[in-house]
Amino acid sequence: MLQEPKSRFLKVKCNDCDNEQVIFGSASSIIVCQVCGRTLAEPTGGKGIIKTQILEVLE
Ligand SMILES: [Zn+2]
Repeated sequence: MLQEPKSRFLKVKCNDCDNEQVIFGSASSIIVCQVCGRTLAEPTGGKGIIKTQILEVLE
């Protein structure tokens, strides 16, 4: 689980409350909005599925 060749950080915006948050693109656990608790990303295989708006990719 330590090798993540495409790992990078994403700046996302919550669809529900407009909170902006930086998350890990290949998350191994569900990431929720720090403000309202909405699911922002879910792990699927080695990749995270982003379920909200991506503002920026931070590499
Ligand atoms: Zn939110």
